[in-house]
Amino acid sequence: MAEVNENPVRATGGCLCGSVRYTIRGALRDAWACHCILCRRQQSHFAAYAACDPADLEIAPTNKLRWYRSSPTARRGFCSKCGTQIFWDGKGSDHISVSAGSLNEPTGLKLVKHICVNQKGDYYEISDGLPQEA
Ligand SMILES: [Zn+2]
Repeated sequence: MAEVNENPVRATGGCLCGSVRYTIRGALRDAWACHCILCRRQQSHFAAYAACDPADLEIAPTNKLRWYRSSPTARRGFCSKCGTQIFWDGKGSDHISVSAGSLNEPTGLKLVKHICVNQKGDYYEISDGLPQEA
């Protein structure tokens, strides 16, 4: 039997249509903006992700949740009814990324850095002064 996580609820969220909902019981990392081509294609612009320990994430119900293997090292979880992109799950990673836009507010989060900026779109500039990583 799986161990029950009884930590206090840190955050809740879900997709646009409400078919996929989740609860996070544990630490929630501040948001990173990912500018890679895969995130930009999927999310229409750069993607903002918080992150948590997979053991702290409870997804229910899961019948509309689908996973798309976007590369050999990652899969992306989305709602098959409304298309909302919610999760990024890297193979072997100790955390799962949760799209910041899917979180219910107040999130208590801040955007703290930009990643994959070497793949950013050519139609915008990053000018908020936050750290940038390639
Ligand atoms: Zn949905």
